[in-house]
Amino acid sequence: MFDFHIHLARLPQKKQLTQLLLDRNYDFIAIACEPWEWKEILLLKKVFSSGLKPFKAAYGIHPMIAQQATDDMFAKLRAIIKEDKRAMVGEAGIDKRYPGYEDGTQDRVFLEQAKLALEFQRDLQIHCVGDYMRVLKLLTKAGFPQDEPWLYSAPRPIFHRFGGDVAFLKRALPYGALFSLHADSFRKKSTAATIPLIPQERVFFETDADESFWQGKTGRNNAADNVTTDPGTPEYIRGRLKSGMTSSEESGMTSSEESGMTNSVESGMTSSEESGMTNCAESGATSSAESVILTLAEGKDPVQFTPEECASELESRLESVRAAYAKCRE
Ligand SMILES: [Zn+2]
Repeated sequence: MFDFHIHLARLPQKKQLTQLLLDRNYDFIAIACEPWEWKEILLLKKVFSSGLKPFKAAYGIHPMIAQQATDDMFAKLRAIIKEDKRAMVGEAGIDKRYPGYEDGTQDRVFLEQAKLALEFQRDLQIHCVGDYMRVLKLLTKAGFPQDEPWLYSAPRPIFHRFGGDVAFLKRALPYGALFSLHADSFRKKSTAATIPLIPQERVFFETDADESFWQGKTGRNNAADNVTTDPGTPEYIRGRLKSGMTSSEESGMTSSEESGMTNSVESGMTSSEESGMTNCAESGATSSAESVILTLAEGKDPVQFTPEECASELESRLESVRAAYAKCRE
């Protein structure tokens, strides 16, 4: 199994879990999209670097912290990418739900990382919510080649937790793009209809598992707006809970997001497609965010799982994405 996008450092008992995943031949790309996460992944890589098959990582600055990006942060990122020859860049991207979308900050932060990927010839893990065409424009601006025969090696844009439509696919293919599918990729009608049209060799699967992992596993879900970015603190988790950043996180599929989809033309979505999006409530998730917040306030962890349970859960989630893909191609 190959999990193309997993936030390993955000999962419980990450060390034991990493060992277990490697033992089980669960291959993955560990995504680190904030400085604290870079540190954690670098540590994990150190611990497991003697293994026969060192895991692959991606380091980047997520659009949710675009406004906090500094020259120093970019310098550190650059040093890490230079040092780890197999590392990808990212996840980097554009997300209209976060600050810095309107004023161009997210554009600048993404552009910088796209250039880094080009300079070091690395694949670029891309997060995109609500403005796929903007990402393509920025890739062109950064110098990503188009109308080239498919590049069999880096640098390629990777659209993680893919949520685009046919019009976008047609525009993205000449960039040599890869598409990483998540369970959520199949929930939006326009994306579900697009997936079978992607050349099979460019399709990958992911869990995008992060700190919301156990919430999702217990059927917990959330809804609403702002996030802080210091994972592990009650404020952060509360922010995540408020922002709805669980399974529906990067697809932007909360009902408030749907109504916020104003630039239908740019994103290539028609209103009928939007109304075809499944919202959290319909997908069976209930909002018990309150109880998680209470638990945190008391200083206890939310429901924890053993590394064995986590590994099995990851396997079954990844397998269900693969199965959904097989089914949509029938
Ligand atoms: Zn991610």
